[in-house]
Amino acid sequence: MFEIIILTAMSILCVNTEIAPRLLLNDGFKIPIVGLGTGTTTDEAVRDAIEAGYRHIDTSLNYKDSEKTIGKALKDLISEGKIKREELFIVSKLETSDHERSRVPIGIKQSLDNLGLKYLDQYLIHHPQSGVDVLETWRGMEDVHKQGLTKSIGVSNFDEEQIDRILANATVKPVTNQVQCNPYHNQKKLHDYLSKHNITLTAWSPLGGTFGSENLLKDSKLVSIGHKHNVTAAQVALRYQIQRNIIVIPKSLNKKYILENIDLFNFKLTDEDITEIDSLNKIQ
Ligand code: NDP
Repeated sequence: MFEIIILTAMSILCVNTEIAPRLLLNDGFKIPIVGLGTGTTTDEAVRDAIEAGYRHIDTSLNYKDSEKTIGKALKDLISEGKIKREELFIVSKLETSDHERSRVPIGIKQSLDNLGLKYLDQYLIHHPQSGVDVLETWRGMEDVHKQGLTKSIGVSNFDEEQIDRILANATVKPVTNQVQCNPYHNQKKLHDYLSKHNITLTAWSPLGGTFGSENLLKDSKLVSIGHKHNVTAAQVALRYQIQRNIIVIPKSLNKKYILENIDLFNFKLTDEDITEIDSLNKIQ
């Protein structure tokens, strides 16, 4: 009887340890190379991900109720003793309505409030275009960084020219640029530029996106490389990025896929596989 109680208590408390290796950022912090995308999400998906060993979650103020859903799930998981705040890596984004320097603290505080957190691990400018000079917005990002509301700051959907302007004027360098990136749009040129400046690339829609994943994941080359390694086309698409030191944030609401999308560390693509996947790129 006593043993049954202990075993039950252990299984309630049990979550997988962190699975994805961490990548070093230019400010010394380390990000798990696989995160959960939450363009839409559920309490169950967040719990499944944390229990499967995810520690990195990507969200935004404008992903409907995602921040609130994530906040509630994390609060429960923390109070159940399954995870500690400091083990998590939470990323959120500044929306265009808050691009004035004085509004950046308002934007981040709203996200923190939704998430029930005191700080973010990474805060990104979601889009460069808003009618406000990006340098003004970046000063606001540096303000909230200095205030300790986020550990790192970065950008999303920026091109080389926009990043050059930040680098020429910034006190704090962006740690990442989050852009669309998958085998059909591999961002080689931008990735080379970012690597040269020690800025990571984070791949959104790494599976082709909500409306494009069916096409990408049926690609005969990805499927056949997957067969060779006994994995799915989705795992090939994600592993391809990891071998390029690119961070991936696949989104799923489905437990089977959530598990699959982080089960990437028991196989390795060969140089020939990588060359073949490179050849799928459709956008220069
Ligand atoms: P993804 O490339 O992650 O694809 C998600 C789609 O793939 C969903 O339809 C999902 O279905 C399906 N899927 C997930 N895993 C598998 C699998 N193993 N096998 C087959 N199908 C699978 O698209 P997103 O556009 O959602 O991008 C990921 C995240 O990037 C977003 O959720 C968001 O966090 C971020 N993002 C950032 C943007 C930016 O501007 N910075 C823009 C867009 C996204 P199901 O849910 O049913 O499992």
